[in-house]
Amino acid sequence: MPGRPDHVASHVDIETPTGAVGVSAPALPSPRGELRRPGEADWQAVLDAIAGASSVDLLAHVLPDGDALGSALAVGLALRQRGVEVRVSFGDDPQVVPASLSFLPGQELIVPVSEVPERPELMISFDVADARRLGLLQAKAEAARQLVVVDHHTSNAGFGTLRLIDPLAPATAVLVDELLRRLGVPLDQQIATCLYAGVASDTGSFRYAATTPATHEFASRLLAAGVRHDAISRRLWDTQSFGYLKVLAAALERAELEPLAAGGRGLVWTWVPWADLLAHGVPPEQIEGLIDVVRKAAEAEVALVLKEDPDGSLRGSSRANGAVDVAAACAALGGGGHAYAAGFTSHRGVPATVAAFRAALDAQSAPIPD
Ligand code: MN
Repeated sequence: MPGRPDHVASHVDIETPTGAVGVSAPALPSPRGELRRPGEADWQAVLDAIAGASSVDLLAHVLPDGDALGSALAVGLALRQRGVEVRVSFGDDPQVVPASLSFLPGQELIVPVSEVPERPELMISFDVADARRLGLLQAKAEAARQLVVVDHHTSNAGFGTLRLIDPLAPATAVLVDELLRRLGVPLDQQIATCLYAGVASDTGSFRYAATTPATHEFASRLLAAGVRHDAISRRLWDTQSFGYLKVLAAALERAELEPLAAGGRGLVWTWVPWADLLAHGVPPEQIEGLIDVVRKAAEAEVALVLKEDPDGSLRGSSRANGAVDVAAACAALGGGGHAYAAGFTSHRGVPATVAAFRAALDAQSAPIPD
């Protein structure tokens, strides 16, 4: 399996809030104070940009999840109906659609990085919190005449020329639903399937705290459009290769529980050597959900999974249940994300990386009051 280039492997692994179970607080305000929910003028500017474009490039983030790729494909299908030349892409090399997302309609719209124009007329990114998450497409995005950023990450620093960023939206797919409504494109079964994959992914099948009555109303409209939610759920949540089960078993065997970490709230952590992926034929994008197994440990407030890349660097994914801010801990290691779901990239090896993460947790975890 070829390695990914350094500038992708070293991206800041800012993630969607997949670990938001039990977190009751809404999205945090932006530390930069720049984020505001899109207003009428923002929507109109994006509609005008789309109306004036003969060709549109739609981007998901590297290692795309259901929200990123589902959102990009939904808009791709909608704009193709309107006779616009559309391409969907993401900046990985190799560019692999995760097996769990291969059911998404519109895959024929996906093109390799090389087929994206050097200076696109109109580019729209979906679920991309940071320009570095565009991977190999970052330079082309920055050269685009217009770059629209559609996202729901609190940590989005506001790149691009036009922005539809709503940190209160449970998924980017929710913003796409509004965009399609304003474009006058009805939800057919294909588009609805893409959007359902997005909202189901980012809400953990409607379990996470960001799920609202409006989220269920959205899902209701998607089901009414003919979405096969049972088949999608099985593909998204309940289907893995046998090799993945072996990698998971080894990771769980390797897991350590540190009850005294995080101010006595507990840390559970493990790591996945690149050799395990090679031995079992598991592509790296397939272990993104491993953190959701590790974080089940009742004895730990914080969970951490380190995933080794071929160059030996480690991509860290962390989750917290609400009492500790892992975005702050990950920021100390050069990463970022949400308070309850964040990540980083480390070049220091496993013991030193875990030690640094533990120290960062201690620095911002108040001890549990007596
Ligand atoms: Mn998302």
